[in-house]
Amino acid sequence: MKNRIIVESVSVGTHTLDIGFRTEGDISAYFTDERIFRCEYSADISALPEAVAVVPFVCSVLPLVWLTDAELTAGSIDKDFHDCLPHVRRGYEDMYPMLQFRGRLKAGLCLTRVRHAKNCAALFSGGADAFCTMFAHLEERPALITIWGADIATCDTEGWHNVSSRAQHTGRQYGLDNEFIKSNFRELLREDRLSALVSKSGDGYWHGFLHGIALLGLCAPIAFTGQLDTLYIASSFTTADKGKIKCASDPSIDNHVRFCGARVVHDGYDLNRQQKIELICNAAESTGYTPEMHVCWQSSGGGNCCRCEKCLRTIYSLLACGRNPSHYGFGLWEQYIGSSRRTVLREATYTTLWNCISERLGQQPAESLPEGVLWLRGRDLRRLQQRYRRRPAALLSRLRHLVGSRVISPAVTAAVRLRRR
Ligand SMILES: [Zn+2]
Repeated sequence: MKNRIIVESVSVGTHTLDIGFRTEGDISAYFTDERIFRCEYSADISALPEAVAVVPFVCSVLPLVWLTDAELTAGSIDKDFHDCLPHVRRGYEDMYPMLQFRGRLKAGLCLTRVRHAKNCAALFSGGADAFCTMFAHLEERPALITIWGADIATCDTEGWHNVSSRAQHTGRQYGLDNEFIKSNFRELLREDRLSALVSKSGDGYWHGFLHGIALLGLCAPIAFTGQLDTLYIASSFTTADKGKIKCASDPSIDNHVRFCGARVVHDGYDLNRQQKIELICNAAESTGYTPEMHVCWQSSGGGNCCRCEKCLRTIYSLLACGRNPSHYGFGLWEQYIGSSRRTVLREATYTTLWNCISERLGQQPAESLPEGVLWLRGRDLRRLQQRYRRRPAALLSRLRHLVGSRVISPAVTAAVRLRRR
């Protein structure tokens, strides 16, 4: 049976958007049992035309449609969005030449361009990249759009409360509007099966295929009601990573997305992570307001755990700029900095990001830095990791992983321990 997704109903309320759909063929296996795509907007979206209302749903299933050569049918679709799709798809094709992107969208075209649109908005998670984009475009007064249902599950009310109140606080500090969106878009999909489907790519489905386009799509109703000319999405990577790192949010994809006449800008790609942190610190000083960043997705509750690789990356960056991480939302950093070396050596995969930090640490006098970070100062992380992985304990652990832990007797472990002494 041909793979099909059919939009059956579009219901727009004052703040709600429900899309009923059904699936046919093998594609159904990638969905959970739920067949209603739901969104809630803090903005009044009651005037939304159907052609725009379906864009969030279409974006959340688009990579799946392409990967399974499916047909997606909807009553009507925004013409700008429809016309941008071949370019967006080319971004995916160039990034993942080992996979095929086919399938099509069947819908009547409708021009929903907003006249005299002049506003801008920025996706705002509260992380370092988002703050950098906010500060870089502060004079354009971007509305800050924060989404519940992406990195924070819709059942994590405490986490959402913390993230949304921090976003609101930031909005108030800078006189910027906040927009909030809640959606079950991730909960409709079987991400484990989808990641298996794209295993050849070497990346998971959420990170490598979905998050960028899905988050942008959720903003389409705001582009219409908020009369947006530009929508910024902060980059996580930089030009130096081009071709090396695969990520669903990439200039080759995001910069082609269009809806209701609004364009999308993948912002800050020319700055590396360390330069972004410097920009934030400098902006914080000149504006007199120090932002509390939220970068951690390991801890529920919306705080920073201060010990995962992502927290440590930001803590090290702040220290490299000579700033106190406690002032930027990392209150527990001193507790974990002593054991951070092992986490970074084991878990850091984006070595180019870490090497920018290492270089900046090298410019700081050693005596001004905490002892726990000196091991990285001016060193190449990739080399340090290679050496770390060649240690007898690391080799043993890998061997154990390969043959099953029971095969290697405790006697061998003891012998290795003895040799190390
Ligand atoms: Zn963390």
